[in-house]
Amino acid sequence: MGEPGYTSGAPPVVAEWVEQVLAGHVAGTRGGEAEVTAAREHLGSVAEDLGSFTRARGGVLTGPLDPFGGPGALVLGDASVGRLLTCGGLALGEAVDPPGEVTWPMFRGRALDVFVSVVLFSGPVADAVGELEAVFEATGAAGDLELLRGFTADPSKSGELAELAAHALAFRGLQRWEPRVEVGLGARFAGVLELRGRADLVLGGPGTPHPCVLVEVKSGELRDAHRAQLRHYVLLASLRNGTLPAGAALWSPVGGLEPMHVPGSLLAAAERIAAGASRAADILDRGGPVLRPGPHCRFCSSSPLCPEARVG
Ligand code: SF4
Repeated sequence: MGEPGYTSGAPPVVAEWVEQVLAGHVAGTRGGEAEVTAAREHLGSVAEDLGSFTRARGGVLTGPLDPFGGPGALVLGDASVGRLLTCGGLALGEAVDPPGEVTWPMFRGRALDVFVSVVLFSGPVADAVGELEAVFEATGAAGDLELLRGFTADPSKSGELAELAAHALAFRGLQRWEPRVEVGLGARFAGVLELRGRADLVLGGPGTPHPCVLVEVKSGELRDAHRAQLRHYVLLASLRNGTLPAGAALWSPVGGLEPMHVPGSLLAAAERIAAGASRAADILDRGGPVLRPGPHCRFCSSSPLCPEARVG
């Protein structure tokens, strides 16, 4: 017999996976403290190097790196690390002037986050567009409300939103693990390196009787950038909790649930941050970014003025 109120839609795959993960956790996969300590020490040494580098150049992190948080610390999120590794000009451009236009794929992502929250805390979404209107009105999100009305002037977009709302039923049955959405995560090292992130869904963790599990919600195909993002959040959650999460996964209506192998992911995430911090130091050292043109130029806000842009 199904749960009351849920007569159709995607099966509760996330809850089923969490049950399996926590069964394995009880069987002896606790811990990871040594890996957490190693990651903390590695990032501490990255911060010390960064501090020495900036002190040798007169002190604080300023000038070309102002968009990354300054004046006292380099502030890195998973997206800014990814951009630094792709092209310094792209990273600076997006930090100074993030893209203003909200495209349909971006809006679908926002809508899916709302539907997942409704399923987690209230119940099934009966009317996708009506539910979004109610949430945007209640939260004073006038811009999102306007976007919703603009996009749904096309009936096919209303249909897509209804499909997304049905897919969000995959998140039912999670209340017992005390879910929280849009959870801010952060860590600071030696006063000069600050890491930030915002996890879509955290289950359990400190303050609850349950081990911590993270799930990132995506509305389209799952990509390597999403996997790097999840590793970044697993690292930040581990630094905060002192132990590895019991589980972590990506989920999308297209790719379904993609569990991540948590052990070993912290050092990969820390190495990526170290490489991003090194690229940032290069920007400071040279007084400007190294340009690395490629397919990403087509999405770069700096491309109109960039001498290396490849937009053809
Ligand atoms: S246009 Fe290309 S090379 Fe120039 S800053 Fe943007 S991503 Fe880098």
